[in-house]
Amino acid sequence: MPTDRLTVVVAAYNEAESLPVLHPRIVAALEALDGIEPRMLYVDDGSTDATWRVLCDIAFADPRVTLLRLSRNFGKEAALTAGLDQVTDGAALILDADGQDPPELVGAFVAKWREGYDDVHGTRIARAGDGWLRRATAHAFYRLIGRLSKTPVPADTGDFRLLSPRALDALRQLRERHRFMKGLFGWVGYRSVAVPYERDGRIAGDSKFNLWRLWNFALEGITSFSTAPLRLATYLGLLTALVAFGYGMWIVVKALFWGDPVAGWPTMMSVILFLGGVQLIALGLIGEYLGRLYDEAKQRPLYLVDETRPAPADAQRA
Ligand code: UDP
Ligand code: MG
Repeated sequence: MPTDRLTVVVAAYNEAESLPVLHPRIVAALEALDGIEPRMLYVDDGSTDATWRVLCDIAFADPRVTLLRLSRNFGKEAALTAGLDQVTDGAALILDADGQDPPELVGAFVAKWREGYDDVHGTRIARAGDGWLRRATAHAFYRLIGRLSKTPVPADTGDFRLLSPRALDALRQLRERHRFMKGLFGWVGYRSVAVPYERDGRIAGDSKFNLWRLWNFALEGITSFSTAPLRLATYLGLLTALVAFGYGMWIVVKALFWGDPVAGWPTMMSVILFLGGVQLIALGLIGEYLGRLYDEAKQRPLYLVDETRPAPADAQRA
């Protein structure tokens, strides 16, 4: 049986406590597979705790481990991109560093890959360790983005997935700065399949995504994959103009028939304030898109690498 290389890509931000527990689980899960040549790639996304030291110990003990340290915290999406950019041979499996995505499922993922699927993603049927508010907002978000986005974004599906070499190649071509990875995976297309799983609680520490960060993440997703809000602004404007026209007619008719003893301060104020509000909302919407366009236009790299291990020179000598 020919061996296929499979690289587990893990983005880690302040996960010093989880990684020593997670790594042996990943190794055990990968070694249990037939015909798979396992590799592990950890991306330290500018951690401020002992994550890098922990990772160096892991890499020192296991030559199949590669490390990447970014120059600062770029966020999960950029860290994952940095990791996936390195996987030029074989498939990649994306896993959270906190143990919420069980590596023990890798066998099921690989089986689907062997059946010919390019994007095997884990779909959560339960979310242990997440509060009701978190679950409710996540649920609402997936429904909304599923409606708005033209490319499919499977519900209740995170970044936990296996990507075939051709899906990886395709993903590498998408260099946009605002990276809503769930949408990008969907954009790539090819053959995808869901593997249902129960999401565990974190091994240690707290989630890096509080509600405010999640809200921004949702905005990112919607603006990256849909221009529906812009259209909404158009319709809102049309509707307001229509109402304003009707109301204007009514004022003229009223003045013609009954005269106009200059009153109506309350009506005037409410109309002015209403129109001001509608205009600001529409401007804000345009601003959201314009700001993102500005970031894209700058063409900055998506991330900067501070250090890799083994260092490229060592790898050449080996
Ligand atoms: N993460 C990262 N950079 C960040 C924030 C998070 O690489 O700026 C990693 C984090 O270490 C973890 C994964 O992204 O492996 C998911 O983060 P978290 O568990 O905080 O999110 P949640 O599971 O609560 O959605
Ligand atoms: Mg987590």
